[in-house]
Amino acid sequence: MTVTYFSVLDMERIFVQLCLLLLMFSTEVSKSDSPHQPKEVLVIGGGISGLAAARKLVNHPSQLYDVTVLEARKERYGGRVWTSRKLFKKPIGAETDLGATWINSKEKDNPILAITRKGEIETKTSGPIQLHVPEAGKIFTGDEANKIFTEVFSMMQSAVDRVKATGIDVPLQKAVEDEITRHTFQGDRAIITSILRNHQAVTKADYSAMFFDPVKLFGWNTVVVDGFDQVLDAIVSGLGTEKPLSVSLNQVVRQIHINSDKKKVIVRTKDLTQVEADLVIVAVPVGVLRNEALLFDPVLPGEWYKAMKELGVYQSQKVIVGFSEVFWPTDIGVFTMTTPEGQEPFIQTWFNMQNLVGMPFLIGTLYDEAAVSMEQTPVEELKQQVIKVLGKLFGEDLVSQYNMTTLVRSQWTSDPFTLGSGAYPRTGNVAGIWDTLSPPVCPYIYFAGEHTSLDGMIGAHGAYNSGIRAAEQIINGRCERELKRKQKTKEEKEKKNKKKEDKSPKKDEL
Ligand SMILES: Cc1cc2nc3c(=O)[nH]c(=O)nc-3n(C[C@H](O)[C@H](O)[C@H](O)COP(=O)(O)OP(=O)(O)OC[C@H]3O[C@@H](n4cnc5c(N)ncnc54)[C@H](O)[C@@H]3O)c2cc1C
Repeated sequence: MTVTYFSVLDMERIFVQLCLLLLMFSTEVSKSDSPHQPKEVLVIGGGISGLAAARKLVNHPSQLYDVTVLEARKERYGGRVWTSRKLFKKPIGAETDLGATWINSKEKDNPILAITRKGEIETKTSGPIQLHVPEAGKIFTGDEANKIFTEVFSMMQSAVDRVKATGIDVPLQKAVEDEITRHTFQGDRAIITSILRNHQAVTKADYSAMFFDPVKLFGWNTVVVDGFDQVLDAIVSGLGTEKPLSVSLNQVVRQIHINSDKKKVIVRTKDLTQVEADLVIVAVPVGVLRNEALLFDPVLPGEWYKAMKELGVYQSQKVIVGFSEVFWPTDIGVFTMTTPEGQEPFIQTWFNMQNLVGMPFLIGTLYDEAAVSMEQTPVEELKQQVIKVLGKLFGEDLVSQYNMTTLVRSQWTSDPFTLGSGAYPRTGNVAGIWDTLSPPVCPYIYFAGEHTSLDGMIGAHGAYNSGIRAAEQIINGRCERELKRKQKTKEEKEKKNKKKEDKSPKKDEL
């Protein structure tokens, strides 16, 4: 008789092995019981929309999603949220934001504000806006400025309301011009028309009046003091008990290939690596997709390409300038100026970063042609242009006394991972365009990004929500439902055909 003796250590080992076995067994049971199988998900693009999608999936209590974000850039995620600290000597944060800066505090349930609260990320509300009319030597602040902007807003609202009432879309530009001819001006006509005509949506010949919502112009008054990327870092590293996201940098995706036999998506990158997954969320910018810098094999349905081409792409840039010390009013949040009729607007609006984060910096914004050509302007020339504009705002003599120590600009138009600043609704874009761009191409490809929803185009919170939408489509089994629906319709059709066949007399019966 052989007697086997177990030491305490052996007993412990057996116990642990038994537990592991049980755990494996229970996982198997729960997996097969689950309506969803575990899924490997690749998110292409680590901007705010892609990161939001990844966060939503990783946080799902079922833990059924194994998510990796593939981001093209070597040094950072975030896309058009870029706190470019490394380009500055003594940065704090927000004064180096070359993409998104403002959070709309009026937007109901703004998810970005919610993250700043949860992550205890410091935000600050800007001081008032100051309107300069250089050609008339006038400056409006407080109530005077508010009165002018209220009239501008009410004119835009009437212009849009009139178009909506007809049900026929026209360019916002035309709607605004019509409004100018019929409006009884309370304030200075020249100033009000100049603000209206130089608004970035009105300068475009084809911006849709039907899809323009003037109410959304209000509430952009809050910044993240240490830079907008704090919000993205919170999403990636996780708040509270959230697990960190897996983000793989330097992954320039060139092709998304569906292998129907294997029921897998094969993602191919520029350096010829291949990654396999059950499904992908494509969260790259509209410019990248329109320029076919990322290809689909097989190609997507024709209506998807048509919708992509129908969207407008706008150009918007920032120029950040720093001085040895501040020489402009520190209590003002934003300086904006009118552009005389017949002249092209250049940098009309400047954010006062001294007021916001205590740094002697101004951030200028510019759009359209001016934004495109600015990217290529030699630095010295751009510096002189900026000094001229600031001279108009604060007086040439004053500006000439101070030394510009920093000039940094964005280049979103030529940036190969953006190829444009964002999407906008063009005249005639029917609502159906977003019904085409927001749903998945089942069962493998889902979409996120600011261009995939009308709200996304309003700003980073809309882009974030588009990522949540894509994740929810996966979680809620949208493609599985669609497949079942299609299967049912097919079966019903087959049944009907069979009934017809049964009823019709057979050849040999005739
Ligand atoms: C100048 C400017 C100022 C703005 N100001 C504001 C503001 O004040 N407030 C606000 O709310 N919004 C603002 N916005 C808008 C906001 O920044 C965007 O709506 C938002 O960041 C878009 O997020 P996204 O995820 O859709 O795209 P992106 O942020 O562009 O993310 C897409 C990601 O995909 C990556 N990518 C591209 N190609 C590939 C590829 N082939 N393979 C893998 N990855 C790839 C990119 O590198 C990028 O990281 C501003 C935008 C600009 C340009």
